[in-house]
Amino acid sequence: MAYRKIREIGDPCLKKKCRPVEEFDERLHLLLDDMRETLIKYNGVGLAAPQVGILKRVIVINLGDDRILELVNPVIVSTEGSYVDSEGCLSVPGKAGEVERPVKTTVIAYDRKGQRFEYTGEELYSRCLCHEIDHLDGILYVEKVIRFVEVDE
Ligand code: ZN
Repeated sequence: MAYRKIREIGDPCLKKKCRPVEEFDERLHLLLDDMRETLIKYNGVGLAAPQVGILKRVIVINLGDDRILELVNPVIVSTEGSYVDSEGCLSVPGKAGEVERPVKTTVIAYDRKGQRFEYTGEELYSRCLCHEIDHLDGILYVEKVIRFVEVDE
């Protein structure tokens, strides 16, 4: 395992629509392992494959205590409510901004073995799911921001 370099805003990888994963093979497992390690190293809540330069529909989310949820080919199937809160992005260092997101988001995704599962995230994890899935479609939160907020460096 190794952590990978995070691509930053301006990198063309962050503007591309990612392709679905078709093979649940060693290459996918290596990517997931590296993304886990990268997420933990940078102390992020979520990370999407295009942020490490891989144009595949893969995201990882830190549920706390370094318990990492891996989602392959995630698709949002329902959302509930909406609220505004600030969020940031490892690919947009030194900034944070307020964005409107659902209070609850349910996705269907696959694990690393190709097993389909459903996951519902609330509040922070709902926000994170939407933010990371946007990355898979080449969308950064800065395109949806209501206003930028001060960040303590
Ligand atoms: Zn991000």
